[in-house]
Amino acid sequence: MDTNSFRAESAGELPASTARLIERRERVLGPSYRLFYREPVELVRGEGAHLFDADGNDFLDVYNNVASVGHCHPRVVRATQDQVAALNTHTRYLHESIVSYAEDLLSTMPAALDRVMFMCTGSEANDLAVRVAQEHTGGTGVIVSAEAYHGNSALTSQMSPALGTAQDLAPTVRTVRAPDAYRTRTPDLGAWFAARVAEQIADLERHGVRFAAFLADSIFSSDGVFPDPPGYLAQAIDVVHAAGGVFIADEVQPGFARTGQEFWGFERHGVVPDLVTMGKPMGNGMPVSAMAARSDVLAAFGDRIPYFNTFGGNPVSIAAAQAVLHVIRDEDLQLHSDRVGSLMVAELRALAAEHPLIGDVRGAGLYIGVDIVADPATGTPDSTAALDVVEGLRQRRVLTSVCGSGGNVLKLRPPLVFSDADLDRFLTAFSDVLRSRPR
Ligand code: PMP
Repeated sequence: MDTNSFRAESAGELPASTARLIERRERVLGPSYRLFYREPVELVRGEGAHLFDADGNDFLDVYNNVASVGHCHPRVVRATQDQVAALNTHTRYLHESIVSYAEDLLSTMPAALDRVMFMCTGSEANDLAVRVAQEHTGGTGVIVSAEAYHGNSALTSQMSPALGTAQDLAPTVRTVRAPDAYRTRTPDLGAWFAARVAEQIADLERHGVRFAAFLADSIFSSDGVFPDPPGYLAQAIDVVHAAGGVFIADEVQPGFARTGQEFWGFERHGVVPDLVTMGKPMGNGMPVSAMAARSDVLAAFGDRIPYFNTFGGNPVSIAAAQAVLHVIRDEDLQLHSDRVGSLMVAELRALAAEHPLIGDVRGAGLYIGVDIVADPATGTPDSTAALDVVEGLRQRRVLTSVCGSGGNVLKLRPPLVFSDADLDRFLTAFSDVLRSRPR
């Protein structure tokens, strides 16, 4: 998670105003924060897939799945402004919009998921989902992928190996290798992955830990973006259910139409989760998140433990979230994500044929990973080259970053409104970076 971070010791010559702001920032902010890029970017305005600095320079945002319907989308801005001027309270008063939004949100999901609760961040949603799963099953054991990130709370950070080795995982947590179709040379990735999950359930039981949940982001974004083949998760979810556990689908990354062919990432695998968590794109930048649940899975927790989240589900955040759903539908952003994403993958694969640095290109809709390797024959990750590409793009005012356990996968995840012209600009900059690299 720390791969593409600014480090003062390796920074190039910075503009004086940038250096001054970094220095002031470091004097007052906690040292855990990280800035992106060798030359950090200071932004003042956003529109669509574009961000602007104080001098009016236009940066292309190929990384932002929070402002998913476009930076400062006028409909979301207006809905938020209208509601903040009218009233902002919490879920202890009746309010029409939280109920109608809950109905609307649940209508996008399989019928079995029939309850929803609201929070402010993805971490809070996962935190609650794990507690609900533990109450329902009576177990504590949780399985996550080897480079997963699920949040910053005490509970979820101990289920987030992406935070690095200084962050302990809970003794009741086990990890499985991510379903990397590029490096795991197996004819049946679904069976392979299900066997890995079964091994870890057995390991928990051997240590006297009852299995509660498999918590996974169905596109495995921090592991390196693994969308294919569609359906590969199904056998693992059968194993989870047969062992009495629940599947928590962390939709913070793939949810809300990003993967193109489906609205939710889990749908790509033909599975119905027991709990679904979501956040980031839900409010296009307003801090709003949610956990959807099967009512039978929620019952044990709901009957015994009250839940109040002061800001979760407040009318202003809900107004933003409702506007986001309207925009996704009215602007056909799911279809758009599918069309532009497919085009982007095809163009990137054409570039891969010319540049051995690109070992693999994979994606679903506008969630795309470009695997940068030292040698395509071995698929050995090359994180130095990947970071050079990220920096080369940043110098051309195109914003991306990296993911994956090897820190070598370019993560391309622009706002869903990414246009054909935006794609052209990205491809021109990317080809230029590849061509300018010493061979
Ligand atoms: N789950 C996943 C898959 C995430 O990517 C993130 C954030 N990067 C979270 C959970 C946590 O969300 P938040 O930062 O809103 O707490």
